[in-house]
Amino acid sequence: MTDVGFVYDPLYLEHDTGAHPENPQRMVATMALLEECGLLARLRRIPARDASAGELALVHDPRYVAAVHRAAQEGGGWVDPDTLITPRSYDVAARVVGGTLAALDAVMTGDVASTFCLVRPPGHHASPVQAMGFCLFNHIAVAAEYARRTYGLERVAIVDYDVHHGNGTQDAFYDDPGVLYVSTHEYPFYPGTGRADETGAGAGRGFNVNIPMPHGAGDESHRRAFAEVAMPVLRRYRPQIILVSAGYDAHFADEIALQQLSVDGYGALVSMVKDAADELCGGRAVFALEGGYHLVALPWCVRRTIELLRGDAPAPDPLGTIDAREPAAFDDVLRDVKRLHDLA
Ligand SMILES: [Zn+2]
Repeated sequence: MTDVGFVYDPLYLEHDTGAHPENPQRMVATMALLEECGLLARLRRIPARDASAGELALVHDPRYVAAVHRAAQEGGGWVDPDTLITPRSYDVAARVVGGTLAALDAVMTGDVASTFCLVRPPGHHASPVQAMGFCLFNHIAVAAEYARRTYGLERVAIVDYDVHHGNGTQDAFYDDPGVLYVSTHEYPFYPGTGRADETGAGAGRGFNVNIPMPHGAGDESHRRAFAEVAMPVLRRYRPQIILVSAGYDAHFADEIALQQLSVDGYGALVSMVKDAADELCGGRAVFALEGGYHLVALPWCVRRTIELLRGDAPAPDPLGTIDAREPAAFDDVLRDVKRLHDLA
C-alpha cells in the first residue's frame, strides 16, 4: 500500500454553471462514492491553497489573468457558448490551480508518492490568453511550469487521456523541449486541434505527441496507444515527474463524446502511467481531473485511478465493459504517429 495524496476543496462547488454538463454534481457524486467505499479515509488529504496572480501568470498572460478577475468581479458572463465566468469563478479556478500546486509540492518533497486532485472547472483548453471549453486557468500547465521554476526540473511530462485534445497545454509548451505533452483524444472533434503532425516547433519539435483516436475507439485501441506510443516516448524522455490531465469523458457512458473506454480500460492506462512513474521518476505523479460528465462513470473512474495508485485490489464497477468494435482506421493512425516520432 502506498500513501496517496488527495486534493479537494468545497470551494470547487461554487463555480455555479447551472444546467451545464460541467457542474458541481460531478464533485458531489465522486466524493460520495469515495466516502461510501471507505477510500477517502485512507487518503492523505492535502489542503488546497489559492494560486497567486503571479503563479497563474507562469503560463497565462498577466492581462488575461486580470481580465478573468475583473469579469468575475463584475458579475461574470459567457465567454463562449460553453464557458461561463460566474462571480466566484476566479476564486474557484485559482484554488484549482493552487490545489494542483499543493499536490505537486507534496509529491516533490516526498510527502506522498502520487496525488489525485478532484478539481473543477477543468483546465486543458485554457490557453495562455484565452478561456474556452469550460476551462479558465490551465492547472496542469501551470503546475508543469511551477515544477521547473520551483524545483529546477528539466524534464516534465504531461499525459492527457481526456477525450478532448488539450489545445491550451499544447499551446503553452509547443516550442519548449522542457515539457513533453502526450495526448490521446477523439479526432476530428472539439476543439479541432490535435493532429498527429502537430509535433512541436523549434527546439520543442518532437516533444508534442498527439495520438488522434478515431471515433468509437475503445479499451484495446487506447491500450495500444499507451503501450506502443506513450510509454516508449516517456521512457525515451526520462521525465522527472509525470503530470496527468485525467479526463474521464472517453468512457462509453459519457454522452459528450463517442469513445468506448470502460473503467477497466481507463485502469489499464493508469497502471501504465504508474509503472512509468515508478520506473522513471520514483513514482512521482500528480493526477488532476479534467473532463468526465457521467455521474456514475466519473466517480468509478476516479475510484479506480486512486485504487491503482495505492496498489489496492480494484473493486468491480457497476457499468462493466461493452463489446466495442475497435475502429480499423486506428492501425493507420498508430503507424503515422510512430513514424512521426521515430518509434519502431
Ligand atoms: Zn474533455
